[in-house]
Amino acid sequence: MRLSQILISTLRDDPADAEIPSHRLLARAGFIVKIAAGVYTFAPLMWRVVKKFAEIVRQELDREGANEVMLPIIQPKELWVASGRWDRYVTDGIMFTLKDRKGSEMCLGPTHEEVMTTFVNAQVNSYKQLPVNCYQIQDKFRDEIRPRFGLMRGREFIMMDAYSFDCDVPALDVAYQKMRNAYCRIFERCGVAYTVVQADSGAIGGAGSEEFMVIADSGEDSILFCRESGYAANVEKAVSKLPAAPAGGEPKALEKHSTPDVRTVAQLEAFFPGWEASRMAKTVLYHVTWKAKTKVVAVMMRGDLEINEVKLANSLDAMTVRMATDDEIKAATGAETGFAGPVGLRDDVPLLADESLQGSTNLLTGCNEGGFHCLNVNLGRDCRMPSFKELRMARKGEGCPVSGKPLEQARGIEVGHIFKLGIKYSKAMGATFMDQAGKPVPFVMGCYGIGVSRTPAAAVEQSFDDKGIVWPASIAPFECVVAVLDNKRDEQNVLAEKLYAELRAAGVDVCLDDRPMSPGAKFKDHELMGMPVQVFVGRKAPEGGVEFLVRKGMQKSECAASEVKAKVLAVLGR
Ligand code: ATP
Ligand code: MG
Repeated sequence: MRLSQILISTLRDDPADAEIPSHRLLARAGFIVKIAAGVYTFAPLMWRVVKKFAEIVRQELDREGANEVMLPIIQPKELWVASGRWDRYVTDGIMFTLKDRKGSEMCLGPTHEEVMTTFVNAQVNSYKQLPVNCYQIQDKFRDEIRPRFGLMRGREFIMMDAYSFDCDVPALDVAYQKMRNAYCRIFERCGVAYTVVQADSGAIGGAGSEEFMVIADSGEDSILFCRESGYAANVEKAVSKLPAAPAGGEPKALEKHSTPDVRTVAQLEAFFPGWEASRMAKTVLYHVTWKAKTKVVAVMMRGDLEINEVKLANSLDAMTVRMATDDEIKAATGAETGFAGPVGLRDDVPLLADESLQGSTNLLTGCNEGGFHCLNVNLGRDCRMPSFKELRMARKGEGCPVSGKPLEQARGIEVGHIFKLGIKYSKAMGATFMDQAGKPVPFVMGCYGIGVSRTPAAAVEQSFDDKGIVWPASIAPFECVVAVLDNKRDEQNVLAEKLYAELRAAGVDVCLDDRPMSPGAKFKDHELMGMPVQVFVGRKAPEGGVEFLVRKGMQKSECAASEVKAKVLAVLGR
């Protein structure tokens, strides 16, 4: 293709709202154009990138026997009521909902478990038709709280979503492993460094899940991992060996102390010298929302540890949890913020505690009285026995659950997520097939997502320099550009056309930059747009000489036109 025929519009400056390199560079290169918060147009070169990535996804999924389909974007509320997810998604505010002219409620699909389950249920009657795996590559709609970082967190974005249907759990395990393998090949082929981590199943639900993370400082996810054992998990899910607390000793008599204005663990440490944070139990009040009710719940955590809100929500089977406001705390405990505790807690406020507090004695806690704390609190003696759960946020430096070695931390961009769903959706929606005994049984499902617009942006996060983007060849808009530096000079045009034709004939995805612009501007444009191999035809054209540039590392050299084809193929590894 000729760049004179492609709409290209690079900018001089970074857009003001661009916080991370991929957003900054993709916008400046004119690859993406913002229409509204989290809503972007893909310009022609970016669309080539997305299509190339989507094609890699297709090839690898097709190799595993998955079927590409196209499901509707508009989905009726009834399907979401049937699966039990309508309320949760509406409460979360993530779902774009609308009404048709008859007043029927619909949504723009944020995900497609309901529609796919309905589709496969209508098509598949017998175990003989299983396994089935269908996928689509399509726009998804989510009214994200914080759309940002360009394509990373859009409100309209492109996803590959696949759904597997099997007759039993061992068959699901096989389907899951096939998808996992396909994902590994997909991310390897698009040239990103990634890691697979254990993940929380979130609103999707189900038995187990793993995320594919592209490691990058700008990542919104935090990962804990151990080089020794290979353990890796999203912090939302991660566990660690607990750092030991000093023993509390034999239970002593409860003491109540006046602690005016002493509210935080740090303030308590200063107020009670010798009481380490690990011997305190802080009590945090949460406002918890379930499908049919809300409640304030008290959660105790060892003073030196933090609460993991994802684990908390899961342990309560809640739709959402958030810290209670000062007013809610006052209403639930009678005390101002900073003095909540298990002692004297009203009976109607449920009391949870992290496992780290199990068996501990003589704790320092609040007692729901403004300006007071208690020493030597013994759970079950001075207050109710809480219900113990695993609620702790694992942290770097703590022991790996497998090897015991200190966990390391990195930031990651979630580019893919695979789930074992089991029968959650098929059971709720009455999606069954006839098994060998002629009995209707629910499909055993898996679901699998890839961020098709997010992954190329994640690739840029890992591959750029101070001049611009450095595309991995497999998803670059073009593998190679041949650029004429002065298109008023015939010998340059002729040589460039010749190289362009030769490279095309050799199977290189090459474009010809025949745009009338100054050589300086052209060099700059290509530095920014980042095609992997760049050939500049300029003043040396009459002698058959060209400038050859490998974008990665900006390695420049001069060579004879006759050498170009071999050199390009060598850089591309062919
Ligand atoms: P996140 O935790 O980043 O919000 P998610 O877990 O809600 O994502 P999934 O429902 O697992 O996302 O969606 C599958 C894939 O779609 C994700 O792994 C991610 O790559 C991509 N994706 C999800 N949300 C967005 C978004 N708002 N913009 C772009 N891509 C997204
Ligand atoms: Mg996810």
